[in-house]
Amino acid sequence: MRRKKNRLEAQQYIEGILQHDRYILSRAITVVESNLKSDKKLSQEIIESSMPYTGKSLRIGITGVPGVGKSTFIECFGKLLTSQHKKIAILAIDPSSQLSRGSILGDKTRMESLAHDSLAYIRPSPAGKSLGGVGYKTRETMLLCEAAGFEVILIETVGVGQSETLVRSMVDCFLLLMLAGAGDELQGIKRGIMEMADILTITKADSANLANAKRAKNQYKNALHLLPPSHSNWIPQVATCSALENENIDGIWDLIKKYQDFTQQNGFFEQNRQNQNLHWLHEAIQQGLQAAFYNHDDIKKQLTTIESLVSEGKKAPLKAAEELLTIFKTKI
Ligand code: GDP
Repeated sequence: MRRKKNRLEAQQYIEGILQHDRYILSRAITVVESNLKSDKKLSQEIIESSMPYTGKSLRIGITGVPGVGKSTFIECFGKLLTSQHKKIAILAIDPSSQLSRGSILGDKTRMESLAHDSLAYIRPSPAGKSLGGVGYKTRETMLLCEAAGFEVILIETVGVGQSETLVRSMVDCFLLLMLAGAGDELQGIKRGIMEMADILTITKADSANLANAKRAKNQYKNALHLLPPSHSNWIPQVATCSALENENIDGIWDLIKKYQDFTQQNGFFEQNRQNQNLHWLHEAIQQGLQAAFYNHDDIKKQLTTIESLVSEGKKAPLKAAEELLTIFKTKI
């Protein structure tokens, strides 16, 4: 199989990553994100060799509806971390875009000062068309960033679809950003997302919006009491902040560290990562099986005919699935 001309040897990527070379890291991520068959083996080698150097970062997921202030928050929060000499990586998933450069970062002014910060690394993570639908290679990218020495990984996603669930399944701590006074607060947000949050933050708590934000904080606090206790035994915390005025951004970082201490002490932190690895394994198996099924020559030949029969009501879907699976199983 011919390798793309601009590819390096696996060892060169690995050495570059371990030497914290961002340029090589970016090129390695490109290989990992690639859908080219010729990149598959190289990609696996890079990930496999990076594995012993992963796991040392704190992985934080950040979600919220468009306009809630995610990029302004991340910029301010990121600057706080880099001022403490922490190396941070920001991976942004945009579920609305299948393109490799998601529109989430389309706006060049997003996180401008972080983008120029030598301790910060920003990278959009293409949505891809995986089974989960989004964040196709975000986990792998995260691992490479860890091997490259980043100590805090922020994974940003727009809180509008399924991407939150996916992000939740790869981070240690999940931060939900919310707006105060956007209609009926408690109606506005899907209960499922609130249940996933370890820390809920009301953004834009400044000037005319301050009183509203404080009121919303109390409402959410009460609402969270009604939710079933989480597996971590951590009681989700609610806070307000203003990224524009740099107000309580450090308070949010303190809460995150408290969450980390709490879950490390009660064993949930490690347990959660182990479960996430298992989840990842099974997800990869499902994706592999699905791809093998749909790429199977006999399935490809028969699928359209069977689909027509099913859609016209001439064949029962379950029976049709059974037949196709039998073809697949007997001729693997
Ligand atoms: P995103 O779509 O969630 O990334 O939101 P942005 O960070 O782009 O912010 C959306 C708008 O809200 C922008 O006009 C920001 O200037 C504004 N904004 C963000 N954070 C704050 C804040 O703390 N206070 C105020 N008053 N406005 C903010």
